[in-house]
Amino acid sequence: MTRPVTVRFAPSPTGHLHVGNARAALFNFLFARKNGGKFMLRMDDPDDERSTAEFAAAIEEDLDWLGLKHDIFARQSERLEAYEAAAEKLKAAGRLYPAYESAAELDRRRKRQLARGLPPVYDRAALKLTDEERAALEAEGRRPHWRFKLDHEQVAFDDIIQGHVAVDGASLSDPVLIREDGRFLYTLPSIVDDIDFGITHVIRGSDHITNTGVQIQIIRALGAEPPVFGHYSLLNGPEGKPLSKRHEAERFSLRALRAAGYEAIALNALLARLGTPDPMEPCLTLDELAEGFDLSRLGRSDIRFDPADLARANTACLHLMPYAAAAPRLQALGCDLGEDFWDTVKPNLVLFSDAAEWARIVQGPLDPIIEEKDFAAAALAALPPEPWGAETWGAWTDAVKEATGRKGKALFMPLRLALTGLTHGPELKNLLPLIGRARAEARLKGLTA
Ligand code: GLU
Repeated sequence: MTRPVTVRFAPSPTGHLHVGNARAALFNFLFARKNGGKFMLRMDDPDDERSTAEFAAAIEEDLDWLGLKHDIFARQSERLEAYEAAAEKLKAAGRLYPAYESAAELDRRRKRQLARGLPPVYDRAALKLTDEERAALEAEGRRPHWRFKLDHEQVAFDDIIQGHVAVDGASLSDPVLIREDGRFLYTLPSIVDDIDFGITHVIRGSDHITNTGVQIQIIRALGAEPPVFGHYSLLNGPEGKPLSKRHEAERFSLRALRAAGYEAIALNALLARLGTPDPMEPCLTLDELAEGFDLSRLGRSDIRFDPADLARANTACLHLMPYAAAAPRLQALGCDLGEDFWDTVKPNLVLFSDAAEWARIVQGPLDPIIEEKDFAAAALAALPPEPWGAETWGAWTDAVKEATGRKGKALFMPLRLALTGLTHGPELKNLLPLIGRARAEARLKGLTA
């Protein structure tokens, strides 16, 4: 029987989520949606030193904002017994062994190996210790850390993004799974959870490829079948710097982008499609994104997150937003001037809140810019009577053209400056009926209105 697709997003609650983390969450969420599977949120917090409840709560809040709802939830700090049991199993099988070297000793050894041109791989000296030597070290007060004994063989897997991948166990140090103080490092809890929660696909960054080789060996040592793996290329900052750098992470944290006023769906759309052939295609819902989601369309080289792309994606998403969705938000901003207003201004919004500025321009008061009084007077004289509609602008500008002999930019720019006080903006054909005759008349006279 094939197992139902189950994937997980597994952040460590040691900081706020940034766009790179959001991409990991989104890929897994979309993969679950597309395959009718389940999406798990797992807090990788077995390390009680750096993980905090505040960061965990902030992660949930940020995912909520993105709309990435999870179906399954777990906290590693509540599952330590399962990890202890797995460690015992590995010890009994002779795959987890105690080692006593201090960090300084290991460092010296590494340097000696490098100086001799050897790869800095742990030499397994601890495996050669006799019972007496171990007892003597313990008597000195040393506590062991625990290493997994790798098989020195190739581990190969078919990655759904990278294709065929092979990791050579012989080129790696036996990984430390448990520290001297008894705390678990990331690897074992992650594997135990992936097994216990029936994770079918592990979709994560390409920085984990070597880990995957190691993890496949541990999974097999625990008597389980490895999941399918997919390693996507990493997202860097706009200058190509990794988002793991503190400064970049804060600059592109989800909180910062939310506070700046970006739409969650715009960010989702951009993150889902960066690195694919059509990165800027906007959308309105996560379901739409899930439908077109295909990990195999992702390229293999690292990609960049550029805030200018997010601004464009935001504009594109707002452009798709129907009035019914916009109305409550316009009301909250105190600028709901109706459906025609929304349809007129939305192509010109970078952020939703820009609508308030266009409402001010429609309703006034604003200071018109009149550069040529005679022209403005001629335009005023040609202003048609109300009611005004979609045809008014065309009829009026034809009349002004007739009266003044102007055309093109020389005709339209002075009218735009007089009516809006700006050189750019939504189409005047649509804006003019919203401004209405009384305000248009006053503005053409140079009055604040
Ligand atoms: N907590 C790990 C990380 O943030 C999870 C990696 C994984 O997906 O296995 O890197």
